Amino acid sequence: MDIGFVGLGNMGFPMAARLLEAGHPLVVFDTRPETVAAAVALGAQAATSPRDVADRSETVLASLPSVQASRDVATGPDGVIGGRRIKRFVDLSTVGAAAAQQIQALLAARGIAMLDSPVSGGVGGAAKGTLALMVSGPRPEYDLVEPVLSQLGTPFFVDTKSGAGQTMKLVNNLLAATALATTCEVVVMGVKAGLDPSVMIDVINAGSGATNASRDKFPKSILPRTFDYGFATGLMVKDVRLYLEEAEALGLPTEVASAVGRLWEQVMNEEGPESDFTSAIKPLEAAAGVVVDGRSDGPATS
Ligand code: NAD
Repeated sequence: MDIGFVGLGNMGFPMAARLLEAGHPLVVFDTRPETVAAAVALGAQAATSPRDVADRSETVLASLPSVQASRDVATGPDGVIGGRRIKRFVDLSTVGAAAAQQIQALLAARGIAMLDSPVSGGVGGAAKGTLALMVSGPRPEYDLVEPVLSQLGTPFFVDTKSGAGQTMKLVNNLLAATALATTCEVVVMGVKAGLDPSVMIDVINAGSGATNASRDKFPKSILPRTFDYGFATGLMVKDVRLYLEEAEALGLPTEVASAVGRLWEQVMNEEGPESDFTSAIKPLEAAAGVVVDGRSDGPATS
């Protein structure tokens, strides 16, 4: 299937690379020329705008960093909405149910189908093709693109209702945000009390406190102090805010989510939106006066 791809960032680039590897002709666009050039080096064709991508492809996928970017790419003046060939738009970004529904309605008015298909599994999952894709929209359109999505990971058809995949994704990410925030908090507490952080993570991973934060994020990016997991703090804050908006719109209590949200807002204020989200431990370390260093010769306290 010939495919268009807009947004070749931390997630989009490895996803696009997998589609090229699987033999799909790919037309790509990103506002950063260097990432377009890297995709062209792998065999993609460069386009000049999202609309140009949609002039040249029936199926356009997008992986974008903000709600506004998804709106612009889908329905802006140079968006895919003006494309001559496009039949379906698959948004792999996390934008929340309300934005997905608004974009879907505008595209539907032009005869373009929309699937929202946010993903989970991180940059590693994007490279290995092991993402979880949470898809909602018209079932026949899903059936058409399912073989393409299967190159990226495991697609789950959540519902025919536009935005349902987004709600599913926000639920998942609130859990991921909570697990990382809480694991940072308890490991800092343990180190302050004199425990070795590497031993703590080993024990947690063998016990009932294990989560993806302790199994993957701590060993890969926090204990070695590389802070390079590949997900920006600003994106985590976006997802937690979107969760809170949806939960509040439903009139639900958000005691835990609100506390988690405050912590992530603090991380963004102190470390910046471009920092890796594993930097969440840094404000907690500063407040405690410790450094969580899992390298064998690293200091346990400062
Ligand atoms: P990113 O910032 O690394 O990549 C976004 C890309 O979009 C960049 O290359 C940027 O230049 C491009 N872009 C921005 N505005 C554009 C526009 N108007 N037109 C064309 N290109 C534009 O972000 P990411 O980490 O790849 O995340 C993308 C989406 O996937 C987000 O919605 C994020 O929440 C979600 N997500 C990310 C991860 C992760 O681990 N990074 C995991 C799951 C889901």
